[in-house]
Amino acid sequence: MSQPSADYETKPRSWLFGPMAGLTAGALGLLVLLSVFLIQRFDRAATEREEHMVENGFAVLTDELNRVVATQVEWDGAIANLDNRFDPNWADFNIGNYLHVFYGFSHAYVLDPKNRVIYASAAGERADLASYTPFRAAAESLVPHVRARENARPAPGKRPGKNNIEIPSIQASRIALVDGQPFLVSATLVQPDFGVDLPKGPRAPITIAVKPIDQAMLKSFADRYMLHDLAVRHPDAVSSASGQLMLKDRSGQPIAALSWTPQRPGTMLLGQLAVPLILLLVLLAALAGRVIQRGSTIASDLIASEARAKHAAYHDSLTKLANRAYLFDRLYHMLRRVEGPDNALAVLCVDLDRFKEVNDTLGHNAGDALIEAMAERLRQTCTGAACVARLGGDEFVVLLDDCDEATALMLGRRIIKAVTEKVVSEYGQMEVSCSIGVAFIDQPGIEPSEALRWADVAMYRSKQAGGKRVSRFNPEMDLALRHRLQLEAELRQAIGSNQFSMVYQPHFDRRRRLKGYEALLRWEHPERGAISPSVFVPLAEDCGLIMALGEHVLRQVFAETRRWRGVRVAINVSAVQLRSRGFAAQVMRMLAEAGADARSYEIEVTETALLGDEQHCISNIEALKRMGFTIALDDFGTGFSSLNVLQRFSVDKIKIDCSFVAALGCGRGSEALIEAIVNLARGLNMTVVAEGVETEAQWDELVKMGCQQFQGHLLGRPQPAAAVNRALPGLRRANAA
Ligand code: C2E
Ligand code: MG
Ligand code: MG
Repeated sequence: MSQPSADYETKPRSWLFGPMAGLTAGALGLLVLLSVFLIQRFDRAATEREEHMVENGFAVLTDELNRVVATQVEWDGAIANLDNRFDPNWADFNIGNYLHVFYGFSHAYVLDPKNRVIYASAAGERADLASYTPFRAAAESLVPHVRARENARPAPGKRPGKNNIEIPSIQASRIALVDGQPFLVSATLVQPDFGVDLPKGPRAPITIAVKPIDQAMLKSFADRYMLHDLAVRHPDAVSSASGQLMLKDRSGQPIAALSWTPQRPGTMLLGQLAVPLILLLVLLAALAGRVIQRGSTIASDLIASEARAKHAAYHDSLTKLANRAYLFDRLYHMLRRVEGPDNALAVLCVDLDRFKEVNDTLGHNAGDALIEAMAERLRQTCTGAACVARLGGDEFVVLLDDCDEATALMLGRRIIKAVTEKVVSEYGQMEVSCSIGVAFIDQPGIEPSEALRWADVAMYRSKQAGGKRVSRFNPEMDLALRHRLQLEAELRQAIGSNQFSMVYQPHFDRRRRLKGYEALLRWEHPERGAISPSVFVPLAEDCGLIMALGEHVLRQVFAETRRWRGVRVAINVSAVQLRSRGFAAQVMRMLAEAGADARSYEIEVTETALLGDEQHCISNIEALKRMGFTIALDDFGTGFSSLNVLQRFSVDKIKIDCSFVAALGCGRGSEALIEAIVNLARGLNMTVVAEGVETEAQWDELVKMGCQQFQGHLLGRPQPAAAVNRALPGLRRANAA
């Protein structure tokens, strides 16, 4: 059975919390990655700056060393001792030893104008000329550059003795790898400064100075530029994470590399900020978590309350069945799908019989308990139904899709069986039945309201036929209902007009003496003619017009009959009037207005009007009796015939229904029934009246059985007040005789 879904119970937290938490974690992760990336970029830029600085620094260092060598060989003394004559001691002191001790040059050589090595020094000591061999190649690659520039310069001449003469140095240097060790090799032309001593020939000697690029040299360099772990390495052995400067030979090939641990300001900064940053991230994450949690709680509550509202909008609060709104919606969609008999649908309208009695007698709580129990039974019986809904009050609707007529009618019978089972609750035992109308829809284009109306019309037919049955809708029913609705509208209009009048039917005792009259209402419809009260009185009761109609009757009867002496006039009163609060007071007021005497009147009520514990009914009857009215129980034997009712209301008279009188002599046991009623009435000291006496045979029989009063066409037809007024004096005289 399809019912509105109860998805409001689903917690949306997980699907909301998950993505939002993921999103936040992602954002935080991205923040961390971005920070790492920026720090790396920052470090890389710092390293590049450092490499640039080291490159410049190394060039400056090379220049300085070259400058040192140039200072030792560019003066007149050097020309005098290395060129004009060669003094090895001078060379030891000024070149070999000096450059080694003060500047860390490992080797020094002097080449004569023909580029032949004439002096060698190693580690500050004069050395064998053969020690030049390892450096020869590097030196010889520099010498042509020096000689070329020597040839290009103007010949050095004598100059007047001045101290601040600037001699352009003629030098060339390179880095060379000798036995795996990088060396700075520098070739410097020996030149005069003042020109006191000049070279002997066109070419001067050349000094070769060799300085190893080793830890000693790097230490001071590292100190100057604040480099950590500065070392000379093979070019291939340098890690990309280190700072590095490639030392290249003249052809541009890397022959060694300076490498050091670069400063990483970004990483350092991160190191210092790590703890506060982590704390901040944790705080942010916690804050985001809290916000998400709160947000998801609010969202959950909103979704749940929306779902609850949706659920409430589609459910009946008492039975939890689908309500009218859901039923219409469902029916609308089901009707759209109907194409023909192959996919027909059935609408079953289920209305409890005599539910109002339960409500009126046991109270509304008992009524609610009964409705809940009935809803549960429907739910259990209609498991295959497309929808079970409560339309309101005691009316339910069941929808069956893709079904045939027989299935729908069978389900209707099963529902009746389930509903008629006794209900035991805290309010006692309750027993009801139900009337069902089935609308079978096997054609497209029917609107939900029409389909429901058809089922309702059929249900009404079941009710009219006495309830506890299933009726299938057919178009004639609709016609009857339309007729009824039309009549209802006409009745509503007629009440204000003069279409109603009263007639009075006499009743007599066993000696045919006039005892009284029954006032009967007549409706003379301008087009339809006379309409029976058996038709319009129940209609007036159903559509709420009976109070106005009843008031009209009382006013009319009191006005027309107040002067009738010696007879009692019976007035029919509906159960609805009797149960209405203040009815007795209204009667009293009208009685007073008309100047009539209650002791001349009798109130005729039906048995069903007196059933149950309706408080207003009891107090109305008691008040009417106190005023002087007698009470007659009309149509006795057709309803519940409860002994309890007869005693409780101390009824004065019982009227045996026409149908029992008509059945006399037909062998349907009516004699036995009438005899039983007569005996009962005698026992309770009540008068028994037989209605509908039409024949002398009936009269005789009824007299024999002990009936005390008689009413019927045999004795007198209902007649207008004017006719009674004319006949009364004669009848009274006959009574007296
Ligand atoms: P009732 O109170 O049982 O009225 C008796 C009915 O039996 C009347 O029908 C009367 O005309 C009819 N009757 C009397 N003698 C004979 C007879 O020999 N043979 C046959 N076949 N019928 C006979 P009526 O006037 O059509 O009233 C029908 C019912 O309408 C009444 O039944 C009563 O329940 C209701 N009714 C009539 N007038 C009023 C009224 O003013 N107020 C209320 N609330 N109900 C009324
Ligand atoms: Mg009557
Ligand atoms: Mg009657």
